[in-house]
Amino acid sequence: MPYGPYTRTEANLGGVGGQVEYDTYSAEALQLAVDLANTDVASRANAEEYIRVNAEWFTCRDLRLSDADVADIGDLARKIRSVVESGSDNEAVTRLNTLLDCCSPVPRATNHDGELHLHYSPDGAPIVDQLGATVAMGMAHVVCKYGRERLGICAAGDCADVFVDTSRNKSRRYCSETCASRTTVSAYRARQRAQTP
Ligand SMILES: [Zn+2]
Ligand SMILES: [Zn+2]
Repeated sequence: MPYGPYTRTEANLGGVGGQVEYDTYSAEALQLAVDLANTDVASRANAEEYIRVNAEWFTCRDLRLSDADVADIGDLARKIRSVVESGSDNEAVTRLNTLLDCCSPVPRATNHDGELHLHYSPDGAPIVDQLGATVAMGMAHVVCKYGRERLGICAAGDCADVFVDTSRNKSRRYCSETCASRTTVSAYRARQRAQTP
């Protein structure tokens, strides 16, 4: 289902057999972006759940969202999706830069969780800035390194989820096995119906 309530998916972009190697941090930041695009964040409860589950990404003391924050998070989700829907590299460039512009990432070293790593906004920056900078960098890294074909929209009739294609020949069409098999079953039933006199 597109735009469902938020459930966290594990960043597993190495794929079975590791067809495409993503570095872990970019992979996790990309997964944060994909999950955001697939969550109905117009609902405040879903937006809050998304932030709560991913709290480890943020260094702001206060994770509460204002109405403006909820609206801005929805805007980020739409911008991520529009990058995935790009029809050409030129369009992807424009849309990626629109996404990057909205939170102007600033690389910052941090060890807020006891481990030295890189963030894309200063410690304590507002939550939407931190989220926006992280998802924008995750998208930009992977699209620029592996190509926009690595991101797709599920082809199942009743699903519009964004997915990451880690297959060797970039042939993936569905967000999940569930969508793939549901589509196969309904195509089979349609053929059966067509053959029934
Ligand atoms: Zn961190
Ligand atoms: Zn799907």
